[in-house]
Amino acid sequence: GHAQAGPAGQKAAVAGVRHIVAVASGKGGVGKSTTAVNLALALKAIGLRVGLLDADIYGPSQPRMMGISGKPTSPDGKRLNPLENYGVKVMSIGFMVPEETPMIWRGPMVMSAINQMLRDVEWGELDVLVADLPPGTGDAQLTMAQQVPLSGAVIVSTPQDIALLDARKGLNMFRKVEVPVLGIIENMSYFLCPHCGERSDVFSHGGARREAEKLGVEFLGELPLDMAIRETSDGGHPIVVSQPESPHAKTFRAIAERV
Ligand code: ADP
Repeated sequence: GHAQAGPAGQKAAVAGVRHIVAVASGKGGVGKSTTAVNLALALKAIGLRVGLLDADIYGPSQPRMMGISGKPTSPDGKRLNPLENYGVKVMSIGFMVPEETPMIWRGPMVMSAINQMLRDVEWGELDVLVADLPPGTGDAQLTMAQQVPLSGAVIVSTPQDIALLDARKGLNMFRKVEVPVLGIIENMSYFLCPHCGERSDVFSHGGARREAEKLGVEFLGELPLDMAIRETSDGGHPIVVSQPESPHAKTFRAIAERV
């Protein structure tokens, strides 16, 4: 049953779930969902019991990235069984509505959907539930950061100034609601040409590391812009499970060890 909401709102723990770790970004398109799915699979690979909550209500990408289709079943018409692939349990609004349907919901409906996906789902015993948050620092994100009992947040940013500015806003949002920021990951950190091997700093490079130092948070690691990262996650078999020996999979497992 539901625990009572105390003075801290609905921040009651989720039964059976030890830690909820949010993956957040200040803006869209920086690779937040790609990072969330690979981090979840990396946490699984290092031996933890893992779930993945797709809280990106307006743009759910986890059904596709996890290679899962179908609808969750319900044992009693109220609680939902999550779907599962690669040993990770997943819940997403994308299982409930067709991909091309726009989610035209206001904040309160978003919050109620998230609360249901969090609390009315048979997660079972989990060491970590990774939550792929919607991009940005709007009202919905703030409410979510306040109401979901987060153990910590990981922020994904590309290296250039504008993305970092948004990442900084995200960081301040979590600080405001007293959610520990576990660190920053720099995605699309540089580009390695698959033909000649030359490296290009497409979005500049190292900005997130410098920013992390300045802000006093951990720098967790960097992932290059690499077609293999896109093809594998867009194809439903993310690089951590499809190419476990690749340097990128190793980076994700190293990050998983640190969060
Ligand atoms: P966000 O969740 O921040 O909106 P996504 O994770 O959905 O971003 O990524 C946006 C697109 O960029 C996707 O097609 C994804 O496969 C691709 N992508 C993300 N990270 C990388 C990367 N490091 N290298 C190549 N493509 C990437």
